[in-house]
Order: sequence, then C-alpha cells, then structure tokens
Amino acid sequence: MIGVVGGGQLAMLLVEAGKKRDVDVIVQTSAKTDPAAKKTNQIILHHPTNPLGTKLLGEKSRLITFENEWVDIPSLLSLQNNGISFVPNIQSIRPLINKISQRELLNSLDIPCPDWLPIPKKKPLGMEIPSDWEFPFMAKAATGGYDGKGTKIIKNLKQLQEFLLVEREEPWMLEKWVSFQKELSIVASRDSKGIVRTFPIVETYQSKQVCDWVLAPADINHDVDLMVKNIVSSLLAKLDYVGVIAIEFFYGSEGLLVNEIAPRTHNSGHFSIEACTSSQFDQQICITSGINVPMPEMLVNGALMVNLLGLQSNYPIELTQRLENLRDIPGLNVHWYEKEEEKKGRKLGHVTYLLDSKDALSRKKEALNVLKNIRSVWPTP
Ligand code: ATP
Ligand code: MG
Repeated sequence: MIGVVGGGQLAMLLVEAGKKRDVDVIVQTSAKTDPAAKKTNQIILHHPTNPLGTKLLGEKSRLITFENEWVDIPSLLSLQNNGISFVPNIQSIRPLINKISQRELLNSLDIPCPDWLPIPKKKPLGMEIPSDWEFPFMAKAATGGYDGKGTKIIKNLKQLQEFLLVEREEPWMLEKWVSFQKELSIVASRDSKGIVRTFPIVETYQSKQVCDWVLAPADINHDVDLMVKNIVSSLLAKLDYVGVIAIEFFYGSEGLLVNEIAPRTHNSGHFSIEACTSSQFDQQICITSGINVPMPEMLVNGALMVNLLGLQSNYPIELTQRLENLRDIPGLNVHWYEKEEEKKGRKLGHVTYLLDSKDALSRKKEALNVLKNIRSVWPTP
C-alpha cells in the first residue's frame, strides 16, 4: 500500500490508477466526502498539512507521495529522518513549494523565467520597479495559489499602490507581464534509477488565470520541444528528484520562459489517462510502489482536455442535466470528481476527447469544434 497526502481530484485519479495496477492507495484528507476519500476505504482523517496524520500514513504505507506542494517542510523532514520514505523526497521538493524559492532556483541555474521582484514586507510602497517594466504587472502569492486564486493583475499605478498597501500574511511577488503567443506545459517523471520519461508537450489555454482547456500535442517546432525537455531533465537531475513533475512555460517573442513548476501530477497531464499507454498517475503509482516504470507513448494522434468549472448558482440548467448532456456527446470521456458543492470557478471535473487528425492544423480545428459542443453544454464561468 502507498500513501498520498491530500484527498482532492489528483489523489482521486491516483487511487483510480492504483486500482488498475492492484496497488492500494491510502489518503490523508480532512473529510470523508473529499473526492479521493470516496474512491478508497483507506483514509487517514487528518488535514493534509497535519504532520501527525502523515506520521499515521507512514505507519500504514511503504512510501508516501503528495497531491500538492503545500506541505510543511520541517515536520516532514523530521518524519523522513525517522524512517518514513517520501516520493519525491523532502530535500528535492523544498525549493519548489514556494513560487519565490522556485524563481530563485531558476535564476541560480540560469533557466529563463519572467523578471520578478519579491514584495518587501516593510515599506512595500518604496519598492523600486525596474524602468523597463510597463503595466500591467502580475502579482502572485508565493504559496497557496491555485486556479488563479493567488494571482492579481495590476493595471496601473493606482492599483499598484492600493495593492501594496494591503497587509498580507503570505509573501507575494511582482512579475513583469509576458506577452506570450502560447502557454506550454510538460509532465515528466524520473524514477529511482534516474531515468527521465516525458509526456508530449501540450498547449494550455487559460481563462481568468485558470486552465480552461488543453491541446495535446502542442504545435511547436523541434527546437522548442528539445529546449523544454532539456530544461525538465536538467531540473530533475539537479534536484535528484524522483516522481512526477510538471512545468508550465510561456512561449513567444521573449523565447521560452518557465512560469511555474509543480512537483506532482498536473491538470495539463489529464489527457494522458485516455491518450497514452501509461498516464501521469500510472507513472506516479509505478514509481512510488516500485513497479517497472513504462515509457508513456501516445495511443492516438492527439487529445483535447476541457475542465468543468463550477458555474454561478443561478445558472438555468441543473448540474445533473449538464452532466447527462455531456455524457451524450459521442467519444467524450467524462471524469467527475463528486465534490459536494458547485462553487463558481471550482474544478468539478474534466472531459477528454481523442483527436484523429494527423496534422496539427486540422487537429486544432477538430479540437475547436468539439470544444464548441462541450461549451454549449457547460460554459466557462
Ligand atoms: P495554476 O495553479 O492554475 O497553474 P496559479 O494560480 O499557480 O495557476 P500561475 O500559473 O502563475 O498561477 O498563473 C496563472 C495564469 O496567469 C498563467 O497560466 C497565465 O495565463 C497568466 N499569467 C501568469 N503570470 C503571467 C505574466 N507574468 N504575464 C502574463 N500572464 C501571466
Ligand atoms: Mg499555473
């Protein structure tokens, strides 16, 4: 049995992948109604950041993996020193649990990323903005941000001053705006022997800073493909990282810039459940439970993944009806996370459609047609 800290949809999809390999997954999560807790009867009912819960998890499982990076490093390090094994280990995720420490790592390795500044706690209004920065800027919380929740677009000087005047517990950073042509993402894994395996690079499309849909594979040239794979394998080796990782990129006139690193499975890799010989969750199961790790290969020419985000409470068509209508669309694979409540913008599920077209241009056309159908049933909030 392996353990996972967290009980959301990523843990749920991991439990499902475990079942296919006869690997039991025990989850540490605060409620029996959380998505992963509904799929397994092995639950440690403690909040994922509670080290006591993780200690109990360690007593029941061979190895522990994570659903997200919001972990308390000192207490996990002490558990690790007392013989609990984590995949990835605590030293290798340490620089990745915080957007500021990620940027420091990238800068120290000369891996290109957007220009950024930490927002000082004391006298933030006095912070100096480089002369080549033009509004808008992007402000980001160092930790705890997901689905666009830790991001804020700052359009002008007045908004900047207002923003800097608000006292915040968490550190934030300010980032130069990037006029990208595309957003790209890669999911990769590294096993305990150091072998790196990559999924096809994908294009991600966001709406209000939240991932809306994903097209696999990305329409990029060979140089960009090589550069992305080079960056991910260098980082994995540098961190001596074992497990699944995802890196988000901006691509455009400024070249390729790393936006974010996620030390875990990622929304941009969900297409792999249907489209690849081994999914991102299967890679995590195999690496964590010591099964020979297969090379993920595409089974089809492409895939479209669309997120189902919660709509406003007065949306005229009921949730069950929307779901039924989605299930009626031929060829659509529906993944429903069974969350208790439909809150606006909350990730409630996703759908994947496998694409036939051989060339990138027709694939995108095919994807946009299906997307239109999906969005007529379930719009973006
Ligand atoms: P998630 O967890 O959903 O990946 P997040 O909350 O961690 O998101 P980011 O990935 O940093 O936040 O940003 C969300 C989105 O906001 C990006 O995918 C991109 O579309 C936009 N964005 C972020 N930073 C910038 C920037 N510097 N310039 C332009 N757009 C940006
Ligand atoms: Mg992101």
